[in-house]
Amino acid sequence: MRLGETVTFGGSGLDRAAGLRGDAGRMAALLAQGRVLALWRGKPLVADAALVWLNAQSPVLADAGAPVFLGLEAGVGYFAQDISGWQPQVLAQDQPAGFIDANRQGHPALPDDHAFEDLRGVMAALTPREAELAATAKAILQWHASHGFCAACGAASDIINAGWQRACSACHAQHFPRTDPVVIMLVTRGNKLLLGRSAPWPEGMYSLLAGFVEPGEPLEAAVRREVFEETGITTGAVRYLASQPWPFPASLMLGCIAEATSDAITLDPNELEDALWVTREEMVAVLAGQHPKIKPGRNGAIAHFLMRNWLADRLD
Ligand SMILES: [Zn+2]
Repeated sequence: MRLGETVTFGGSGLDRAAGLRGDAGRMAALLAQGRVLALWRGKPLVADAALVWLNAQSPVLADAGAPVFLGLEAGVGYFAQDISGWQPQVLAQDQPAGFIDANRQGHPALPDDHAFEDLRGVMAALTPREAELAATAKAILQWHASHGFCAACGAASDIINAGWQRACSACHAQHFPRTDPVVIMLVTRGNKLLLGRSAPWPEGMYSLLAGFVEPGEPLEAAVRREVFEETGITTGAVRYLASQPWPFPASLMLGCIAEATSDAITLDPNELEDALWVTREEMVAVLAGQHPKIKPGRNGAIAHFLMRNWLADRLD
């Protein structure tokens, strides 16, 4: 799909300069003159729908975790640091899947319009470069937050290689950041598109079916299996379209299109609350926010991107 990389988080050609990560001297020099994105519990620091870049000496970073090198732009190093140990006055809310945490956390050392915000709330407003930096920062800091101990022996492990690796000094195992593949698919039957909804989602919200790829499984088979498990619909040809890093917390969404070979829907109530076929004409109303029952997914998510491009006949 030629437009595939225009999806939110679809990449900006960032120079990740991976060859510099092992050079501690270069990293220290780049950090001293560099720009740092602070994240608190996965929420980046934002002002006026743009990322806020701090210098490494900022008091906000006084108790931050180890800096992670994101990449280079015009010779300037970009880094991310986790300040999740800091206690703001307003705490984050635990949200069910599909909801945005609307709370903003201001910081006493920063201007009033600066706050830590849910990336889902600002992602569609970011430039492609900011979106790539924010997604990378959020994904890798969350990996560190949940992988502090060696998976081989259980000892505490250490961050090395400018944040792109963890090493266990007890058993010498090396650990690398994880990304989990998820298939998300346009399932079509002539003029119709298959949509589903999960019970915890906001009222009226429908989206494309999706599911994790299992170990040992090609993505085409994952598409066919997930569609059949959730709706009883069988599918024939499957084609890959576009991908989207989705750092909530560590997914890579693989957008596909599958041709259905059956019509009758048999719901798996453990997976979906409802599923239905929607015509092209109805989808126009859905995406315009004018459908009486169905609300589309959020702008910025690959489901929305694929639905919009299916409707516009721009999948090639
Ligand atoms: Zn170990």
